[in-house]
Amino acid sequence: MGERDPSSYRSDPAEPRPEQRPRRVLCVDDNDANRYVRMQILGAAGLDVLGCATGRDALALAAKEQPSLLVLDIRLPDLNGFEVCSRLKSDPKTKHIPVLHVSATGEFDSDLPEALAHDSDGYLREPIEPATLVATVRALIHTAEDRDRWRRSEARYRRFLEQAYEGVWVVDGTGRTEYVNARMAEMLKCPQADQLIGRSAFDFVPTGDSNLLKAQFASRLAGDARERYEVRLRCFDGSVLWASVSGSNVFDHEGAAVGRMALFTDITDRKRDEEVLRESQQRLELALEAAELGTFELDLVSRTVTASQRTCAMFGFDRAPATPEDWIARIHPEDRERVASELQTSIAGPARFDTANRVLRQNGSMVWVVARAVPVMDTTGRAVRLVGVAQDVTSQRQDEQVRERERGLLRAIIDNIPVMLCLYDPRLNTFELNQECQRVLGWSTQEANAGDFLAKVYPDPSYKRGAIEYMQSLAPGWRDMNATAKNGERVASEWANIRLADDRMIGIGIDTRERMAARDELLRAVQLHEQQFRMFDGVASTTPDFVYLFDRQGRFLYANRRLLEVWGMELRDVIGKTCRELGYEQWHHDMHMREIAQVIETKTPIKGEVPFKAPLTGIFGVYEYIFSPVLGPDGEVETIAGTTRDVTDRKRVEESLRSANEQLTRVNHDLEQFAYSASHDLQEPLRNVSAYSQLLHRRYAGTLGDDGEMFLGYIVDGAQRMGQLLSDLLAYTRAGSEDDAPVALTDCEAVLERVVAGLDQTVQHTRAVITHSRLPSLCIHPGHMQQVFQNLIGNALKYRKEGEAPRVHVRAEAQNGAWQFSITDNGIGIAPEYHERIFGMFKRLHSDTEKYSGTGMGLAICQRIIERYGGRVWVESDVAAGSTFRFTFPIARTSDATTGPLSTASGSR
Ligand code: ADP
Repeated sequence: MGERDPSSYRSDPAEPRPEQRPRRVLCVDDNDANRYVRMQILGAAGLDVLGCATGRDALALAAKEQPSLLVLDIRLPDLNGFEVCSRLKSDPKTKHIPVLHVSATGEFDSDLPEALAHDSDGYLREPIEPATLVATVRALIHTAEDRDRWRRSEARYRRFLEQAYEGVWVVDGTGRTEYVNARMAEMLKCPQADQLIGRSAFDFVPTGDSNLLKAQFASRLAGDARERYEVRLRCFDGSVLWASVSGSNVFDHEGAAVGRMALFTDITDRKRDEEVLRESQQRLELALEAAELGTFELDLVSRTVTASQRTCAMFGFDRAPATPEDWIARIHPEDRERVASELQTSIAGPARFDTANRVLRQNGSMVWVVARAVPVMDTTGRAVRLVGVAQDVTSQRQDEQVRERERGLLRAIIDNIPVMLCLYDPRLNTFELNQECQRVLGWSTQEANAGDFLAKVYPDPSYKRGAIEYMQSLAPGWRDMNATAKNGERVASEWANIRLADDRMIGIGIDTRERMAARDELLRAVQLHEQQFRMFDGVASTTPDFVYLFDRQGRFLYANRRLLEVWGMELRDVIGKTCRELGYEQWHHDMHMREIAQVIETKTPIKGEVPFKAPLTGIFGVYEYIFSPVLGPDGEVETIAGTTRDVTDRKRVEESLRSANEQLTRVNHDLEQFAYSASHDLQEPLRNVSAYSQLLHRRYAGTLGDDGEMFLGYIVDGAQRMGQLLSDLLAYTRAGSEDDAPVALTDCEAVLERVVAGLDQTVQHTRAVITHSRLPSLCIHPGHMQQVFQNLIGNALKYRKEGEAPRVHVRAEAQNGAWQFSITDNGIGIAPEYHERIFGMFKRLHSDTEKYSGTGMGLAICQRIIERYGGRVWVESDVAAGSTFRFTFPIARTSDATTGPLSTASGSR
């Protein structure tokens, strides 16, 4: 089976059913006698018999009458029996009719094979026994009828199989395909069922399932298991076929299992639906998991609750408790009543249930839960179940609280920040002003949104256009704007724009009026400062000295131009640098750092002198410097001001002066020695001249004649005058000698009184009046003081005016660190051009020795004594105006260190 076209088995409804036809036999023989005999025999056996003599008649009759059998002679006049058989069997209308060949007696044994080759069904050779003929004919007819019945039955089954909705697959014991119906081929996407014949069924099993199925196949074959199972098959086009299989074994005639036959039902769609369902179920679970949602179901009929693991965990249950009351009990007491009432409302509605509440777990922890459910109604519209989801929103809730706090904080900042904020849409239709903006501009948010706000703030149309352009742009940076406040005041301000995520914009403005004023103020201060600096720098740079400032760390803050020239630098290169950094040697730097530290500590200036080679010029010089503290407002040293003077030349001069001085002192000393010994030694012979000329005069007076008397008189006078000169000269040299240095205080008043007493005769003679104020006691040799008074008061009396009694006043006062004495007379005075000269040795203004005796040494001696004590002497006088001789003694040199300076109180006597 299976090797024939299934269509060939299809029953033709027009075909008469053989069972209902009379069993008719057609006897064909050209020998009338033979034909007659056979017809008689067969007719007698109850068969309907026809007869004809030629092959062509036989074919025509067979087609027409449809006999159950042909008894066909081989030797016929037109067509032989074989030919007739062949034609009969090749005609569909007659092919089922069995043919019994008969041949003449003994002649044609070779006919048998040929007859069989021409599909004849039987062969008999004369002589034929009537019973044999009848039996053979009957057997052949029955066989044909059986065959026909079987053929029809098979065709029915085949038709049934082919039309079956299920696939049918028959395989042999090795799994080789023996039959598949069209449905099976269709299920396997095979265009032709024939293509499957001979192929192993396991070729269609996916590799992974193959071994298992082979094993199952073997065991089913052995055990004749009638089972239903599901398999997966790989179709011709590669797609997968899911089939439900119902199989059983196929047995041979001996009852041995030789293969299996199975019915295949395509369940691919069901499987796919199942897969889709499974996937969507899985997706739902994943979605719930991802959303951290728990599920729950409240059965209102049974009053039970089922809930997912997550929902249970939210409420702190290990697994879902049965009653709604258990769940309600976990809701926070403050929320419980509300939630219960919401639940009732939802059930009664029936309406959606949507609530948020706190859950208080057994362990005391608390979470926020949001639950949403929908009611499921029965046919009467009554809610029988609530199905919903629950979500733990604690963290969102906390986030929300944080956000709420942040929003509050932001609001507080916005309202309190001293910065103008104006929130506006890019089309400039709505404005929201913060409090500062409202305060500065004077407009409320409400006012800003009523009418053309920008026209109020920027009344000038072109300015307004510019402002709008700027507000809509996102130009970076700040921009100066002049807004007009509600009260008309112009508000200078700076603005910047930013765009928010929702496309709105914020203008950030700062009222710059105060800042501008402060800036102007600052600018003025800076200008003043700069001016002061220029002045200071100008002043500091007029001096040839170096002027500079250090900070407390010894870094330069300033250097005057003179110093910068020497360094060959600009001020900016110097500021912040130390001496070391400017090229000074380490020792020099260290020395100044120590001195700066000392100035800072002692707050007193420090002086120094430093010989060194200038770093830039390499010129050696000697520099004298002073570091002085500059105190800050806190009384501490803020900076250290320094001045340095190049004293190289002065030092050189001083040095030469010193050596010249030494030389001079030496020469002076020699001269003094000479003058002293000359005046001293000359006195001796002079005294002889004087003594002997006086002796001559006494002894020979009257004998020398007038001329002699006169000459002798000259000699005596000359000798006396010379003696006077010598004694004055001696006094002069003594005045400079160091021998009689004072050891104790000398009371100047006592000395003056002694001098006045010594002049008593002259005083009386001239009726002079000598007065004095209070005089100090000084560390001066009394002889020296006496000499000075003697000479000056003597002169005051001597150079008196004619006819006027001399008035002399002596006073002393302390001023400028010295005692200044003055001796004033009302004498003849001295012309100013002689004021210097009169202090020279032997310098006299009056040569008339008769009237004004003298040697011209008095003032010279005074000067020598006074200068010896570090003082000086001068005269203030004019002709006929009287004279005041003044001289000073430095207090430092003439005061007793133990008693200090004397009182300066003055009085007249
Ligand atoms: P002498 O008095 O011996 O000439 P001095 O040295 O004392 O020398 O004085 C120098 C001169 O100064 C005097 O010759 C006199 O001309 C003048 N002289 C000094 N004292 C006075 C005085 N008090 N008034 C006017 N002239 C004076």
